[in-house]
Amino acid sequence: METMATKFSEENQNMKSVESNPSPVDLELIAQGVRMILEGLGEDPERPGLQETPRRVAEMYAELTSGLREDPNQHVVPLPGDKHDEMVIVKDISIASMCEHHLAPFVGKCHIAYIPKEGRILGISKLARLAETFSRRLQLQERLTTDIANTLFAGLKPIGVMVVIEAAHTCMTLRGVRKADAKTVTSAVLGGFRTDPRTRAEAMALITGRE
Ligand SMILES: [Zn+2]
Repeated sequence: METMATKFSEENQNMKSVESNPSPVDLELIAQGVRMILEGLGEDPERPGLQETPRRVAEMYAELTSGLREDPNQHVVPLPGDKHDEMVIVKDISIASMCEHHLAPFVGKCHIAYIPKEGRILGISKLARLAETFSRRLQLQERLTTDIANTLFAGLKPIGVMVVIEAAHTCMTLRGVRKADAKTVTSAVLGGFRTDPRTRAEAMALITGRE
C-alpha cells in the first residue's frame, strides 16, 4: 500500500514537470520579437501609434499563456462527504485559447460530464478553473480536450469523464476561405463513458441539447 502511494505521487510529480513550465516570461524578449514583426511588415516601430505596441503585445501573450505556469492538478480537489453518484454535467464553460500553429486565438465552449465514484465531486468553479488553466497555454484543440479529461480522470477517479469542446479558430475564420461561423468540435471520452455507449449517448444528448 505504502509503495503504491509513493509510486502515485511520483507519477504526479512527473506529470507536473511535463505539463507545467515554471520558467518566467521574458517580456523584453517577446517585445523585441514584436518589433521585428513590425519591421518585417514595413512599419516604423517608432511611430507614435506603435511605440507601446511591443510591450502591450508581450503583456497580452504573458496573460494568454499564464496557464503554462500553473499546476492544473491544484483545481482537482474533491469535495468531501457527498453521496452524489449521478452524472454531473457542466455546460458552456467559456474558453479562450491560443492555437500553437498560428499564435492566433480560438474561442468557444467547453462541456464537461462525469460520473462520480464514492461521492467524489468537484465544485463547478474548479471545473471552470481547470478548463482555464489548460486553455491559457499554446494549444491544439484536440490536446486541450484530452488534457482536461485526463487530469480530471486522474485526480477525481470518477467512473467516467467526457469532455466536449466547440470552438471557432480565428486562424481559420479570418483568413483563407473565411468560413466565419465554422466550428471545430472535439471530444475526449474516458472510463465508463467509453465502455457504455448508452451512457455516452445520454451525456452527449444532454450536452448538445438534443434528445
Ligand atoms: Zn491555427
